[in-house]
Amino acid sequence: MAGKPGKTLVMKFGGTSVGSIEAIENVQEIVASARLDWPRQVVVVSAFSGITNGLLNSAQSAARGDMEPFHETVRALHERHESVIEALVHDPVQTAQVRQELEELIANFSNLAQAIGALGEATPRVLDTVSSLGERISVRVIAAALRANGLPAQAVDATRLIATDDNFQSAVPDLTVTEAQTRVVLEPMLVEGQIPVVTGFIGATPSGVVTTLGRGGSDYSAALLGAVLPADEVWIWTDVDGVMTADPRIVPEARTLPELSYREVSELAYYGAKVLHPKSIRPVIEAGITLRVRNTFNPEHPGTLLTDGVGKVNGTTIKAVTAFRGMKLFTVEGRGMLGVPGVAARIFSAVATTGATVPLITEASSEQSLTFAVPCDAADEIQMVLERDLAEEIRRGNIDRVWATEEVTIVTTVCPGMRYRLGVAGRIFSALGDAGVNVLAIAHGSSDVSISMVVTVEDTHRTIQALHRLTEPVRAKTEAEIQFS
Ligand code: ASP
Ligand code: MG
Repeated sequence: MAGKPGKTLVMKFGGTSVGSIEAIENVQEIVASARLDWPRQVVVVSAFSGITNGLLNSAQSAARGDMEPFHETVRALHERHESVIEALVHDPVQTAQVRQELEELIANFSNLAQAIGALGEATPRVLDTVSSLGERISVRVIAAALRANGLPAQAVDATRLIATDDNFQSAVPDLTVTEAQTRVVLEPMLVEGQIPVVTGFIGATPSGVVTTLGRGGSDYSAALLGAVLPADEVWIWTDVDGVMTADPRIVPEARTLPELSYREVSELAYYGAKVLHPKSIRPVIEAGITLRVRNTFNPEHPGTLLTDGVGKVNGTTIKAVTAFRGMKLFTVEGRGMLGVPGVAARIFSAVATTGATVPLITEASSEQSLTFAVPCDAADEIQMVLERDLAEEIRRGNIDRVWATEEVTIVTTVCPGMRYRLGVAGRIFSALGDAGVNVLAIAHGSSDVSISMVVTVEDTHRTIQALHRLTEPVRAKTEAEIQFS
């Protein structure tokens, strides 16, 4: 993990990692110790935990004429940041300076909130300006806290670095312009040995209007900066030890995975695990930059290393298991579907008109039925559009029935190398059989790294626990067992 002269490290600290005095003390130590190995270091930070929610809620309430959340947020902005300044920025000149910046940004927020209240409207554009304030405040406070610890930190607004389009609240970065701007602004700072402390989450249009990259966008900011600098490594500091084998609330024995591929993490995220958003880390992975997820509250832990490719087989049947709740299974069935071209296309274009995502599809090989999962809250509308758009087939008797189950759960296991490893599916389904789980549908991920099954709500916990046992190393067979098997 040691850096070499000239090597660049980008570290991102999330909301909880900067959410309290204790957390920021850890950040001070982490940055100081990383500096011993990495002379070129860029720090990206989120707003203090809860602040972005407070800002957005204030703006939306102000548009409805309710200024109470605004007053509450102003109080929180003062209290949360001032307590950190008081505890960690000792120098009186520095304290006065960062206090003044805090006051200015809060005054800025007040003006915006009053304007929103007067207009009775909060446009996406103004919401981005309001929600950017959390990060713009936090970088100033964190940079001052780092300086108080003897580190040459400087706050930088990413509006000077990350260029985006004007798709407010989910702006799309322009990598070429971002690269040029980042080099111009950050390179001289790094050459001088400074530590830029950059706002996560935000960017600006070419004409300088503030934009945001979407909620949770600070990971994306760190990945973008890492890719364009380019950095040698990007470390995402959060409040857990890394990506885990399962949700520890369901499986107390869940462990941190030392290593996981981008494809595997994408499968986990797709099926609901709250890990890194694959879209947000893609720039780093594509650039072949090492990415680690680490715990601010347990910095000795090596965390999880994210790699390119499909993922290594690690001697266990599966690597991780995750659950995607709140789904229903739809089945369209009928003997007349056999060999009729275009039925599947018609079904899925009908579903697409509702805007629902379809995370899982399976088809009986007889072509007489097609089953797919959709979110529960879209089910009524989907039933309606399917009956409407397939009315002709239903009338002719080619389709007998369109029906949905009760609520179900999709359980996904990440199991690399499925295609060439014998017995993986066999072990998965015998584990489920032994646990008495009734599997309603199966999909073998076309990605080759996952297999998903649909189970009832009642069977969800049992399924996850039974499958989690397969994350333990498979015991090698003894000579005798091989001989007699
Ligand atoms: N502060 C922003 C949010 O809460 C961005 C982030 O935390 O990544 O969505
Ligand atoms: Mg966050």
